[in-house]
Amino acid sequence: SYRKGGYHAVRVGDAFAGGRYIAQRKLGWGQFSTVWLAYDTRSSIYVALKIQKSGPQFAQAALHEIEFLSAIAKGDTSNCRCVVQLVDHFKHAGPNGQHWCMVLEFLGDSLLRLIRYNRYKGLALNKVREICKCILTGLDYLHRELGIMHTDLKPENILLCSAIDPAKDPIRSGMTPILERPEGNPNGGVTINIIEKKLKQRARRAVARISERRASMGGVGAHPKPDRCLDGIDVRCKVVDFGNACWADKQFAEEIQTRQYRAPEVILQSGYSFSVDMWSFACTALELATGEMLFTPKGGQGFSEDEDHLALMMELLGKIPRKIAIGGARSKDYFDRHGDLKRIRRLKYWTLDRLLVDKYKFSDSDAREFAEFLCPILDFVPEKRPTAQQCLQHPWLNTKNINQKESKSESSAEKVDVGMSNLKIKDEPWHRQ
Ligand code: ATP
Ligand code: MG
Ligand code: MG
Repeated sequence: SYRKGGYHAVRVGDAFAGGRYIAQRKLGWGQFSTVWLAYDTRSSIYVALKIQKSGPQFAQAALHEIEFLSAIAKGDTSNCRCVVQLVDHFKHAGPNGQHWCMVLEFLGDSLLRLIRYNRYKGLALNKVREICKCILTGLDYLHRELGIMHTDLKPENILLCSAIDPAKDPIRSGMTPILERPEGNPNGGVTINIIEKKLKQRARRAVARISERRASMGGVGAHPKPDRCLDGIDVRCKVVDFGNACWADKQFAEEIQTRQYRAPEVILQSGYSFSVDMWSFACTALELATGEMLFTPKGGQGFSEDEDHLALMMELLGKIPRKIAIGGARSKDYFDRHGDLKRIRRLKYWTLDRLLVDKYKFSDSDAREFAEFLCPILDFVPEKRPTAQQCLQHPWLNTKNINQKESKSESSAEKVDVGMSNLKIKDEPWHRQ
C-alpha cells in the first residue's frame, strides 16, 4: 500500500506543515490512513497525526471526515462532549502523492484493546457505567445538537483518555519529544523535510529543560503507557473515526455499521435514523461487561449471515413484530408472510438477564438491572428506542456497586446512590417520561 495513491511512508523525526509537527512514533493504521504520534512544536503538546492515503477516493473521504470533525470541534469549544477534537488539517506532498492530514488530540488505547488486556473477561460494572456515560454524552451531542449519525460505533472506535495527559504534561508522562530524524536511519532519505533552524533550536532548548526537570525529579524517560489497567482510575473516553458519519438529512449508504453492531432495520433495509447508533451502543456496552461480542452471526448451509443474525437477535430479544419483520425492502429474503424466518425454524429463546447470569455469572440483581437498562435500547422498533439523552437519565448509570471486586460474580449487589435520588420510575417506562 506504500505506493502511488497509497500510504505516505513516515519515519521518526519527519516534519509536517512546514516543520510544525514532528513524527514521534506510529500509533495505528486503518484502511485509509496511518496515524502517528507527533509533537506540535508551536503549542508544545503531543497530537495524533492521521495521514490519509493519497488516491482521489481517499482524498474525498478525508474531506468528508474533516467536514464532520470541523462541525464537532466548532460546537464543542470547551472540549467536554466526549468526541475527539480536530486541531488542524493540511495537505502534505510526498513521493506517493498529495496526502490530506488531520491533526487530532492524542488519545489512548481503544476499548477493543482494553477488552483484550482483560483477556476477554469483561470489565467491572462500575467501569462499564463510566464508559457508557461518556459514549452517551458523545452520542447525545452528535445526535441532538449536530444532527450527525456516527454509523460505525464499536469498541475499536472509542478511545480512552489517558489518566495523566501526556499531551499536556510531557514531564510526568516521561516522554522527550524527538525533533529530528535519528542519525543512521537505514531507510535513507526519500521525504526529507527541512525544519526551520530557529524552530529547531527553540524546540531543542525546550527538550533540554524537560530532561533537566525530569532528572531532578528522578524520573526515567519512556514513552507514555496506555491505560491498560484501570484500577482506581475514573475512566473517560471519546468517540472517534468519523469516516462513515452522515448527516441525518443526507444519507447515502444503504449498508452501514460493522456487522456485529448492525441494527435490524439496516439488515432489512427499512430506513434508519439516529437510533442505529443506540443499537450499536447497547451491543458495545454488553461487550464491555462480558468481554464477548453480543452477536456473532455466521452463514451456514442454506442460510445467510444476515438470516443467522436476525435469528440470534430473536433468540435473545423475542420475536420481531410481524409489521417490522415484513416491512423492509429485503424482508422477503428472510421472512415469510407470517413474519417467521424462512430457513431457520427452531429458535432457542433466551433472555438477556438469563444470558448474563448463566453464561457470564453475573449476580441476579446485577443482571436484572443491567438488562433493564439495555433491553429498551435493543427494541426492534427503532422509534421505541430511547435516545442518548433519555439513556443518560437512567437510574442504572447513577448507581454504584460498592465493594466490587474485579470479577462481576463477586460483586456486592448493594447500591449507593450518587446524586440522582429524586429519579423515580413512573408507570411509564423511564425512557418515555
Ligand atoms: P478505518 O479503517 O478504521 O476507517 P482509518 O484509516 O480511518 O481506519 P482510524 O480508525 O481513524 O483510521 O485510526 C487508525 C488507528 O489509529 C486507530 O485504531 C487508533 O489505534 C489510532 N488512532 C486514531 N486516532 C487516534 C487519536 N486521536 N489518538 C491516538 N490514537 C489514534
Ligand atoms: Mg477506525
Ligand atoms: Mg475511518
